[in-house]
Formats: sequence, structure tokens, C-alpha cells
Amino acid sequence: MSAHIIDGKAFAATVRAKVAGHVSRMAEEHGITPGLAVVLVGEDPASQVYVRNKGKQTVECGMASFEHKLDADTDEATLLALVERLNADPAVHGILVQLPLPAHLNSDLIINTIAPEKDVDGFHVVNVGRLGAGLKAMVPCTPLGSLMMLKDYHGDLSGKSAVVIGRSNIVGKPMAQLLLGANATPTIAHSRTPDLEGVVRQADIVVAAVGRPEMVRGDWIKPGATVIDVGINRVPAPEKGEGKHKIVGDVHFESAVEVAGAITPVPGGVGPMTIACLLANTVTAAARSANLPEPEGLTA
Ligand code: NAD
Repeated sequence: MSAHIIDGKAFAATVRAKVAGHVSRMAEEHGITPGLAVVLVGEDPASQVYVRNKGKQTVECGMASFEHKLDADTDEATLLALVERLNADPAVHGILVQLPLPAHLNSDLIINTIAPEKDVDGFHVVNVGRLGAGLKAMVPCTPLGSLMMLKDYHGDLSGKSAVVIGRSNIVGKPMAQLLLGANATPTIAHSRTPDLEGVVRQADIVVAAVGRPEMVRGDWIKPGATVIDVGINRVPAPEKGEGKHKIVGDVHFESAVEVAGAITPVPGGVGPMTIACLLANTVTAAARSANLPEPEGLTA
């Protein structure tokens, strides 16, 4: 039987609608307009597209968007001074420095200069620590979006075994922390894990964040398991014409869909949830800065 397809595009639209609702209530009741500042250094084409989409969706939800585009040869002191200015600006509730930065800039230093309460990417060591300690944190957007989809589909995750494939700081590790916080029993698998297939086959929930096209096959999946495919891989698609490409996930969809109970497609699964959660984090940051209650349905 074919799995239920978890529609990330539709779910992201519901998250954005919730964000817009919170934004208009904050404006009406408290006179606050949440603001997101995005800093882009250089002209990486993929980053330019991301930044444009982020700005557009921020404005569509009723928030203020501040874009700072700096030349590729911007020095570290200039970038740090901008981050400090944004930290001090009361109209800015969220700050995102688009990664990757040019090689001459120290990404760790720059990310850790963002005020933790404005770190809407959740990459600052204080937020990493707070998430690990089970405290209120800004949570990285991609794992937050993945958790929201899992909770929406399953309700309670207590008692579920989960395998997260990949141990990056932006996806794998925070994903496992979130699953733990939701009372699932996560295992983190990675490139040195022996018998990866056997490990994955034990799991009620599989989150693939590897960056290897279609690596996880249907026969790795426990029948009925839920599969969240975080991977975004651009591969040649000769069937579409010479020199054409397509985007595939880390999971081989055609075989996995026959075994899983539910699965996210690529594209149209986790991807749209990532920007939606960035908007959610910005509203959360604005609410926290004004000591208002946590916006419902937008946090882990
Ligand atoms: P990364 O390269 O930082 O980490 C990949 C992880 O996969 C590593 O921890 C590594 O140990 C593990 N790995 C590599 N080869 C493996 C193998 N053969 N077997 C088992 N584990 C292996 O990548 P990342 O930043 O975590 O991203 C992972 C994927 O998710 C990429 O395809 C990326 O494009 C995608 N991604 C998507 C979104 C989104 O918005 N949907 C956001 C971030 C990343």
C-alpha cells in the first residue's frame, strides 16, 4: 500500500497563516511589528534566491523586512559592527546572517555575536546549549519544521523510536534533541555507523539529513514507519532534456513510498517548512522581547 504523503507546502501555508494572525494581533493589541533583518555577504546565486524569498514571505506575513547586502570583500570588523547595530535596534527582533559566508570571514564568530534572543536561525552556542538543556531556545528552522510535521501527523511522539541520519549542527543534532524533548527515543546515525540499513530498519520515525541523493532505499524502512526527507540534492535529469537537472531527496521516494506509513516528498516536504519556521521564530522572538505569551503552535 502506498504511504500517506505529508504535504509540506500546504502545512507551511498554515504555519504562515498562523504567523500572520499573531503578527496582526501584536500590532493591534501591543503596537509591535515583528522585524527580521537578513544579512547577505557576496553574490552566491543560491543565497540570493533564499534571501529574496525570505524577504518576500516576511512582508507577506505583515512583518518588517530589513535586507543588508554587503560586498563579497567586506571585512570582518564591518560585518561585526552591522550585527552589533542590529542587536541594538528595537525594530529588529530576528537577525539572520545567510550562510555560507565568504571564506575570509569567521562564521562562528559572526553567528555568536548575534544577540541569542534575536538568533532566529538557532545557531548561537547559547541556543544550542539551551535546546540541549531543555530550556526555552531559538530552535533551528529545518528541524523545527520537521518536528511540527511529525507532531501534526502523529500527535504524541512518546514511545516512538526514531533514527536521525546525519549529525550536522544545523539539522541532525538539533533534530535528535527535539525528538528527545518530544519523548521519542532517538538514535543519531552517521557516516561511521555500522549496519546503517539495520539501524534504520528499527525506527518508527526516520529523518534523513545526509546530502546523498536517494541513499535510503525502501527496503531500509520498517513497514508503516514515518519518513522525513530533509535532503535537497540537484542531480542530472536527462529524461527532461539534455543538460537538465532535478531535485531529489536523501530517500529513494519511489521505493520508500511503498513501505512507509507516511513520507515527505522532495520537493514540497521539509523545504517549504524551513522559511515558514524562520517567520515563526521571528514572531516568537518579538513576543519574548515584549514579555508576551509564547505564540501558540509556532514553537517546539
Ligand atoms: P552536512 O553535510 O553538514 O551533514 C551531513 C551528515 O550526513 C554528516 O553528519 C555525515 O556524517 C552524514 N553522512 C554523510 N554520508 C553518510 C553516509 N554515507 N551514511 C550515513 N551518514 C552519512 O549536511 P546538512 O547541512 O545536515 O544537510 C543534509 C541535507 O539536508 C543536504 O541535502 C542539505 O541540502 C539538506 N538541507 C535541507 C534543508 C531544507 O530546508 N530542507 C536545510 C538544511 C539542509
